[in-house]
Amino acid sequence: MTVTDANSPNINRVLVVDDDPLIIAEYVRCLGEGFEPDSATATLTDLEKVLFGEETDDRGAAKFEVHSRNQGEAAVEAVSAAIGKGKPYSIVFLDIRMPPGMDGIEAAKEIRRLDASVNIVIVTGSASPEPENLGKVIPPADKVFFFKKPFHALECRQLSAALCGKWHSDRALRSANEALEKRVAERTAALQKIAYFDIVTRLPNQLLLIEELKALIEKAEETDGDTVAVLIDIDRFSFINETMGYDAGTELLRSIGNRLSRTFCDESGRQHAVVGRFGADEFAILLPGVDNDTEIRDITETIRDTVEAPFLINGRDLFLNARIGVAWHPVHGRDAKSVFRCAEAALHRSKRGLKSSITYYHSEMRYRARYKFDLEGELRSAIDNGQICAHYQPQESTVTGNLAGVEALARWIRPDGSTVPPSDFVPLSEEIGISDLLFESVMRSVCADVAEWRRQGEWNIPVSVNLSAHQLRNRDLVSLIKGILTSTQVDKKLINLELTETVLLEDLTVAQPVLDDLAAFGVGIHIDDFGTGYSSLSYLAQLPVQTLKIDQAFIGKLSESGPNNRVVEAIIALGKAMQLDVIAEGVETDQQYAIVRRLGCDLVQGYFIARPMAADRLLKWVEGFEDTQSIKKRSIIVDIDKNRQ
Ligand code: C2E
Ligand code: MG
Ligand code: MG
Repeated sequence: MTVTDANSPNINRVLVVDDDPLIIAEYVRCLGEGFEPDSATATLTDLEKVLFGEETDDRGAAKFEVHSRNQGEAAVEAVSAAIGKGKPYSIVFLDIRMPPGMDGIEAAKEIRRLDASVNIVIVTGSASPEPENLGKVIPPADKVFFFKKPFHALECRQLSAALCGKWHSDRALRSANEALEKRVAERTAALQKIAYFDIVTRLPNQLLLIEELKALIEKAEETDGDTVAVLIDIDRFSFINETMGYDAGTELLRSIGNRLSRTFCDESGRQHAVVGRFGADEFAILLPGVDNDTEIRDITETIRDTVEAPFLINGRDLFLNARIGVAWHPVHGRDAKSVFRCAEAALHRSKRGLKSSITYYHSEMRYRARYKFDLEGELRSAIDNGQICAHYQPQESTVTGNLAGVEALARWIRPDGSTVPPSDFVPLSEEIGISDLLFESVMRSVCADVAEWRRQGEWNIPVSVNLSAHQLRNRDLVSLIKGILTSTQVDKKLINLELTETVLLEDLTVAQPVLDDLAAFGVGIHIDDFGTGYSSLSYLAQLPVQTLKIDQAFIGKLSESGPNNRVVEAIIALGKAMQLDVIAEGVETDQQYAIVRRLGCDLVQGYFIARPMAADRLLKWVEGFEDTQSIKKRSIIVDIDKNRQ
């Protein structure tokens, strides 16, 4: 039964449940619109106004929409239907005893299950159930009430007004809370986006990648296939950043990210790999369910080709080299962090190669990584504590048989007397960014040795010092060398710098101005390991170079009439044409010595002359060399030459 406009949004819906039609009629009378309050109700009316504001009728009284049922089951259905229509009740008045059906308490329990907010009023003529127990029987306690029959019309109206008011304010509070929770959830999501996503590429960052790999590994326990982690380092990214500008660097990173994401996206736009930014110039790709090694190889080669296809940045085609490290679960690690650690170890190995390369992790790297980690800390303190010194290897003139120069080769002598080879610590110094410190310490040690040799006698033999790629990026290189030479009073004419050909070619635009500065200052420039990496010879004409050192590999392959001799012959001819000196490095036998001499090589360095030696042994060696060694050697050459004729 409806007594007021059911469509009004401010209506207080009340369900009255009683098996006695007279009582239902009494509810309707006192909650209905025509109810006339007598003078005694004036204060109650005022109270209603305060409670309901707009939800009062013209005379200030609350409006109720009263529905009635005479059985418990019907009441439960009515509550359910009201919720379904989006018009829930504010109050349900429930008679306790309504034979033959469900009693009021049972109906109340069902109603509470359907509607957590409705106020339930248990109406009874007796004192049972005990009012204070109702909260336990039909929780929550603040939404269940006890009302004694027979009731007074005003009591009923006042109670209804108060409970409806409470229902509305509960609802308002709940929706405010929901709005607040929604805002908190949105803010949390936004913060998570900042914490878990890279701002430049909008891809998952390292933190999220670790979480993603964890999740993929968990899932993989139930499915077949390996979970592969691929790390990709963009070779020389910092160089691009420095030369083309920060914006171009940013654009390039975005383009790489987009391109990689597209590679692992199917036609419907679904990503089947997680693509993220692992570090400054490193990306990561996580691939679940990879079945075999061939698939892993195909995927990583696709990744390499994707990164190495040209990128159009600032109207220029940029060609990148990718260094790639790959490891997978469960073969290389049982958890996300171990898999990433293995992929990083593999990536390190790739970075040591010359150009782009892919390395698949294998267990030996674990020991290598551990060794490297220990070595890293040790190297820093070795440099600080002067454990780095130079050993010297003589170079002989094939024309005069005299000592023509020495090459300084860095040695790390540990306090226990053991030595670490430069092939271990020079690349490490570059990797951890302390190669400038290492160079400085070698340079100081060389100049101190030269100063000492000069103090002990006439020393005017040039010393070659090796430079690594990183030194060419050091803008203070010239002033550093100047400073050391000045403080040790060593003549700049006695210093040559050796750079490998591959280093020069990698960064020619960076190398050129630095080499020009060094040459203008007055130190000599030699190209080391020549012949292994060149693709163009035009650079030779542009650079202020005096000497080419033929790579040991060619010398080792020399034979009386082998095809390899032609390479050496060609390099010597090139050197002559460009008026450069040529040194043959790694000469170990009298036969090799004779061949390079015959081919016209000016200088020779190698175990055949002498092995590298400590500074304090060099002077004695020189004395002996001048007296006997060269005479002996010259006679050997004469013999060889004679035999050949
Ligand atoms: P490199 O500059 O090409 O030096 C020549 C290497 O060949 C030296 O190895 C030398 O001991 C070795 N060698 C000389 N004669 C012979 C020979 O007849 N037979 C054979 N098998 N080997 C010979 P070392 O001292 O182990 O140095 C290795 C490399 O480490 C050097 O190659 C150079 O690239 C680098 N290095 C050494 N010292 C420094 C340094 O102070 N700074 C930098 N950046 N690199 C350095
Ligand atoms: Mg060298
Ligand atoms: Mg060399």
